[in-house]
Amino acid sequence: MVQKTIGVPLSLTGIGLHSGTTATVTLAPAPADAGRYFVIDGHRVPATVAEVKGTLLCTAIGGIRTVEHLLSALLGMGIDNVAIHVQGEEIPILDGSALPWVELLNQAGIVCQGEKPSPPVLQYPVWVQEEDRFVIAMPAPQLQFTYGIDFPSKAIGTQWFTWLPQGDYGEKIAPARTFTMADQVEKLRAQGLIQGGSLENAIVCDGEKWLNPPLRFPDEPCRHKLLDFIGDLSLLPHLPIAHYLAYKASHNLHIQLARLLWERNFSLA
Ligand SMILES: [Zn+2]
Repeated sequence: MVQKTIGVPLSLTGIGLHSGTTATVTLAPAPADAGRYFVIDGHRVPATVAEVKGTLLCTAIGGIRTVEHLLSALLGMGIDNVAIHVQGEEIPILDGSALPWVELLNQAGIVCQGEKPSPPVLQYPVWVQEEDRFVIAMPAPQLQFTYGIDFPSKAIGTQWFTWLPQGDYGEKIAPARTFTMADQVEKLRAQGLIQGGSLENAIVCDGEKWLNPPLRFPDEPCRHKLLDFIGDLSLLPHLPIAHYLAYKASHNLHIQLARLLWERNFSLA
């Protein structure tokens, strides 16, 4: 196993889903063993679960909201070391998926660095449950992710998706966009959330149908939840080999699982 960074610095500018304000993110190469970290007002903030400050409909680090799609792309594309310079208060939502980040990484070039230690291996299950919602990490011979969702809306219903990473994050996970329910939009706006939300950066479900078809996958909502889950799990510096499964979960539950794995030193033997 080798560590990876990117070849050259590259930037993207766009508006934040929740704040509605414009921000510019510049991804820059970082040396071996530096990890993934934000640079905010000249301060370095590691992209780790210890730095997470909020999980209301998104994950926030160092005062920067909605970090999860970018972080998901970095883990999904195997980038171990990168500096994430942020000018603004929220990572741009772009098209609501992680695909623009994957394209930026490919454009910057992915560069191999020094040796990477073998990842830790989870030894016993760790989980968090809230009523019928749960997240669990189970011992498994290889890294695997499963997500389940269940919505009363006919257009979504029950969906399950499992992914065994095989260098196919860019095809199977990254294109899945953020989704929302039309009847939630006004309520969330009134709470000061999704100020930058539009039909350009989220797929919107109105019970029986989608307001802005076509979907990129029949199970795009479930794949997007998995995209978010991967982004939240990337806040563990060395993701243990395990089967990660979430059902009807949220950023809050994802982060609680990451915190437990962190605190228990990955529950390693
Ligand atoms: Zn998301």
